[in-house]
Amino acid sequence: MITVITFNPSIDRLYNLDTFQVGFVQRANFVNPTPGGKGLNVAKVIKKLGETPTCLGFIGGFNGAYIEHEIECIGLKNKFTKIDDETRICLNIIDANGVSTEILEKGPTVSKNDIEEFERKLKEVLVNTKVLVASGSLLQGLPKEYYFTIGKICERENIKFILDTSGVSLELALDSNIYLIKPNKDELEALSKRNINSKEDAIDAAKKLLNRGIKNICVSMGKDGMILINEDNIYEVEVPKIEVLNPVGSGDSSIAGFAYGILKEYHIKDCLRLANACGMSNALYMETGYIETDDIETFIKDISIVEY
Ligand code: ADP
Repeated sequence: MITVITFNPSIDRLYNLDTFQVGFVQRANFVNPTPGGKGLNVAKVIKKLGETPTCLGFIGGFNGAYIEHEIECIGLKNKFTKIDDETRICLNIIDANGVSTEILEKGPTVSKNDIEEFERKLKEVLVNTKVLVASGSLLQGLPKEYYFTIGKICERENIKFILDTSGVSLELALDSNIYLIKPNKDELEALSKRNINSKEDAIDAAKKLLNRGIKNICVSMGKDGMILINEDNIYEVEVPKIEVLNPVGSGDSSIAGFAYGILKEYHIKDCLRLANACGMSNALYMETGYIETDDIETFIKDISIVEY
């Protein structure tokens, strides 16, 4: 099965306004609260693709209870660790031109006991896990190298580890034998400490990261698709033009496509087609981490892959 870790879940509140101006009272045309955090977006899309992922992380307070209720309604397996602090709320304000302003809370702090309880649950679910996805930031209270620790557990248990995070926690995890990372251009620039101005730059920066033991590096480029680099191949994915409504969560949806494809042992090219189709479908809807399977069937046929 697929297990998805979201250390820092949230209630995502999407506000739709005609205009957004700082310093004025404004009325929202539409508010849509959903369970969020990058990992939960991934889990929702995996469920839409037809697999039921098990969800781990930390959850607390009234916000946590709301998220638990929602994930049970969606039909995800809930193995979250309960904590005393309140789970966070994140705001995404979108104006009539599609311009998005996000306000993200930091989230709660976990104790040593909370971490022990999480590790007990992790050990339990890993027995049946083939693919482990960890997405988003670490929580306050967790060691900065915690993703490295999880990567090493996956290596020992022969589990494919997909890590989608950024900053120090990603840098510290790079040597843990990760199966797949999916930086976008900004994340790759931060990771490789250089400017990425072309596909060649992206390929060059990714090749250097392969030396750290990462099996597949996938650079996502929004409307320009994706490039995947591994020991044997370089694949460039071209996606058709679409009418985008809200691309927030497209990266998470792509990760879901990869996790599903890897679980089903698809050829890497088919994993890429599915990942990109999921990212595209998500971009068509206001809700983050939302896809329609009909879109996937259509887009998969229109995605082309060039092999170098
Ligand atoms: P992230 O959310 O991590 O920055 P991207 O924006 O690169 O990730 O989106 C992930 C994938 O979703 C892309 O590789 C692409 O397949 C699809 N996608 C995102 N935005 C668009 C778009 N405007 N047009 C077509 N496909 C898109």
